[in-house]
Amino acid sequence: MAATAVQKIKAAIRDVPDFPKPGILFKDIMPMLQQPELFRAVVDAFANRHKKQKPDVVVGIDARGFIFAGAVAYKLGAGFVAVRKKGKLPYKTIDQTYDLEYGSETLSMHVDAIPRGARALIVDDVLATGGTARAAADLVKKLGGKVIECDFLIELTFLPGRKRLGKLPVFSAIPV
Ligand code: AMP
Repeated sequence: MAATAVQKIKAAIRDVPDFPKPGILFKDIMPMLQQPELFRAVVDAFANRHKKQKPDVVVGIDARGFIFAGAVAYKLGAGFVAVRKKGKLPYKTIDQTYDLEYGSETLSMHVDAIPRGARALIVDDVLATGGTARAAADLVKKLGGKVIECDFLIELTFLPGRKRLGKLPVFSAIPV
């Protein structure tokens, strides 16, 4: 992505302290999404990485990951798959539970979401501790798919998200 675009996107991401709980600096991407040229620059940055070796499916993570994943899937001519918080998907699911700082979270995917052997691109807005993307990648693998990359708009580099994703290729447009 062009350096000027990176600067504009950075400036359009709003830091909200103590949301959703004390001590968290929430990266609010809504002001960035309101600017069409910035939204498009992010979608293009993700899609352009995979033009030559296209994914079969783009996996979006509940909920802001859907915004980018749907657009990237459309642009690449790939399918879209939703990873959702448990209890939100209507059909049979496979689940993956992972630890949070306090407690745990369970993510779900429809049992027929990933054709065996499918190449899957995982997309989300923020890479923090990596637990969410790790769980999404585990769901793809459980169904016999192959994760080709995990793409994020923002990476919180002071957290060990990349490490938690192990050998999976990771791209972040805006490391902070
Ligand atoms: P993690 O599993 O810790 O990598 O957290 C990633 C998920 O939580 C993503 O789906 C993000 O949307 C959300 N998230 C985590 N930290 C933040 C943050 N500081 N600002 C906005 N979203 C966040």
